[in-house]
Amino acid sequence: MSRHCYVVGCSNGDYRIKLWKSVKCTTHLVYQGDLPCDCPQPFILYPFPGAVRDPEGQYRWKKAINRADPNKLYTFLEPTQNMVVCSHHFVGGKKTIDNPDPELHLIEKANKRPVQDKSGHERKEDALLERNSIRTMHR
Ligand SMILES: [Zn+2]
Ligand SMILES: [Zn+2]
Repeated sequence: MSRHCYVVGCSNGDYRIKLWKSVKCTTHLVYQGDLPCDCPQPFILYPFPGAVRDPEGQYRWKKAINRADPNKLYTFLEPTQNMVVCSHHFVGGKKTIDNPDPELHLIEKANKRPVQDKSGHERKEDALLERNSIRTMHR
């Protein structure tokens, strides 16, 4: 099963790692990623926080990436086993205790459809943000 980054517009996945590993390292003279080559992989693929072990973490990831389910109104696309998030979206290029959630290179308007959380707060916040940015622009 080939894994692929869940972020809309990102094409990182297992096949790119495979491609990278098929290239000979010019420094270590072996295939990249084979010992003794310790050149860093172009990215790491992180599985979603488990729905049972860390439902809040999973929700934060889904909310940050904001990928709508094309078949359901106001619902995030449920990540499957082969949907992962690549390290490209984490501050510092990797998942850490300080930066456990994807924050970078996320397309803001990836969804045409607004996704609302249960309380309906999100859309109000968005409207507020938009109003504030307009105000700053006109200043
Ligand atoms: Zn190397
Ligand atoms: Zn990605």
